[in-house]
This record gives sequence, C-alpha cells and structure tokens, in this order.
Amino acid sequence: MTFRFQLHHTDTATGARRGTFTTPHGPVETPGFMPVGTQGTVKGLTIDHVASTGAHMILGNTYHLGLRPGHETVRALGGLHAMSGWEGPILTDSGGFQVFSLKGINKISEHSVVFRSHIDGALIDLTPEHSIEIQESLGSDVAMVLDHVVALPAERDDVQQAMERSIRWAKRCLEYASRDDQAKFAIVQGGLDVDLRVQCARDLASMNFEGYAVGGLSVGETPDEMYRITAATTPELPADKPRYLMGVGRPIDLLESIVRGIDLFDCVMPTRNGRNGFAFTDSGPIKIRNAKHKTDTSPLDASCDCLACTRHSRGYLRHLFIAGEMLGPTLLSLHNLTYYQKVMRGAREAIRAGTLVEYIATKKNQWGIT
Ligand SMILES: [Zn+2]
Repeated sequence: MTFRFQLHHTDTATGARRGTFTTPHGPVETPGFMPVGTQGTVKGLTIDHVASTGAHMILGNTYHLGLRPGHETVRALGGLHAMSGWEGPILTDSGGFQVFSLKGINKISEHSVVFRSHIDGALIDLTPEHSIEIQESLGSDVAMVLDHVVALPAERDDVQQAMERSIRWAKRCLEYASRDDQAKFAIVQGGLDVDLRVQCARDLASMNFEGYAVGGLSVGETPDEMYRITAATTPELPADKPRYLMGVGRPIDLLESIVRGIDLFDCVMPTRNGRNGFAFTDSGPIKIRNAKHKTDTSPLDASCDCLACTRHSRGYLRHLFIAGEMLGPTLLSLHNLTYYQKVMRGAREAIRAGTLVEYIATKKNQWGIT
C-alpha cells in the first residue's frame, strides 16, 4: 500500500492525535508542519537548510508552478522532486486558493474558473481535471482537489453554492486522477457556517480520499471563529485519515488546532516573518531590527540549535537586516522554521506522554498568551 496513516496515540484529554503518514518519498510524523515552497523553493533556503529544520514534508504551489516554469517544463526536468532536489514528501495545493485570492478571476462556472495570469495577463481555464493534470506532472506525493473558495464575509447562499460546487469538483478530481503514487486530499469548505461545514465534511468523507483538509480559513476571521469551525469539522472526518488545516498559522494556532484533531499544517508565516526580521522564540517574538539588539552578543534563542542561534549574535543578525544583506532573511527563516518544528516535536512528545494540556499551558505562558 503506497499510502498509510498509522495512529499511534490519541490524547484522552483532548482528542489530539499522534500519527505517521507514509508516502512514496518517506514518512511524515504528525502533528506536522510543512514549510511553504511556493515556486519550488522555500524562499531563501537551500534544501539542506530545510532538511536541517526537521521538516518532513514541504508544500509546492500548483498555481505558481503551473504558470512558471509551466507543468510541462517541470515534468521535463524530472518532476518537482528532481527539479528542486528535495527528496522527501511534497504536497501541492490545487491552485484554488491563489486563483480566488489574487483577484484575477474572469469567470467562474460549473466547468471551471477562468482567470488572468498575474505574470503575462494570459487567460487560463482551470478545471478540476487540469489542476490534477498539473499536479500529476509535478509528481507531488499529495495532490489537493480544486475547490471554490469564497472571500469572507459572504452571503450564506454564496457560501453554500461554493461549498456544493467544491464537493462536485472534488469528485471530478478523484475520477480524473490516474497516478497511484499520488494521494488525493479533499478540502472541506463552508465558510463560518457549522451546518455547511458538517454537510461538506460528511459528503467528502463518503468518497475515498487518502486525506482531508479544512480550507477557507485563516482568511481574516478571528482565531476563536477558526477554532470553532475546526472543532465542528474534524469529528465528521474519517478517524483513520490525516487531517490538514490549510494556511494556519501562528504557533498558538497550531497547538489550539492540534487539540481539535488536526494533524498537518502549512503557513508562510515562519518564512515571511523571518524575511521581515521577526523571530519566534520561547521567550516570545523578537524584532531583530530593534536598536536594543545593536551590541547584543547573545544568541537569538539560547535554546535553539539552528545555524542562526549557534553561530551568530543578535547584534550581527540585526546588522545584516539593517545593511540589507540577504543572509539576514535566510538565517531568520531558518530559525523560525526550526522553531516551528520544535513546537511540533514537543506536541508529538506531549501527546505520547499524555501531557499535551500542560505543554500548551507552558507554551502560552512563555509566549505571554493568557
Ligand atoms: Zn534558532
């Protein structure tokens, strides 16, 4: 069997899960965080950097790679693994989120979404089948179905129609897909409406996907709304399949979602914030450009074993950012991804030990969250 999801522990206090998702390119320990490699690269980092953070699976972007260099070019270069040199598991999104969030949409119909390329303005007709075709050329381990994402807030009718269309598109993706070595994950939509979310989750659960995602969140709603929708959705999903919360989020959001039954995450936050000089640490966030770090010889995070923390001082890292040197964003991205993986590793160990509630309380205390 090419794909397997083994559940090792379920936390009795919260329902949080500790598992292993096996793919053709290796195992993914869950709960797990996937760094985002939009254009076939995690921005500013080499693949050895990314591997050194402890990441198991990374994310690639169908929208961006489909437009540039184009899926046929990626296939000619041996697929996304060979092209990028990343030998571990890769998940690709469907392009839906970018198409619906970049506001280049020309026409949405039952057949497809027609949008303008942000690169050259060309009209692109993206059907569910074409999204799968692109992802099969990319050769990712996990392909996401094309979904219809609505911007929130929206009228309930609009949310419902997009949700129902997402179910029909998911079915088309499943029927079109031809690669046995690529798992297909469905995406639950339904905005902030619990009834729609539950209905969508049940309909998708009746189809044979290898995993399930909760999509359309982290788009401006409050954390409490996101937690409420996540908590209402996960009980409707098959217990023996991995669950992926798309595009989330802050370290606290990851922990709060793990206790609501989520196994996988991705987010640009650690790398984007790293490029902007913002570091996540056990003593709360650090803005490295701040003048108080100017002559500070201490490491960014004394408890971190990444290159930025073991070899360099806060004063040097600040200098790199002030001078506009590219190494600054590289080192802080490396640190933040290392930090995210450490938080997830801690969560996995806590689930195994039955101490997840205490672990989260400790983290909230360290981060100054009440
Ligand atoms: Zn570090």
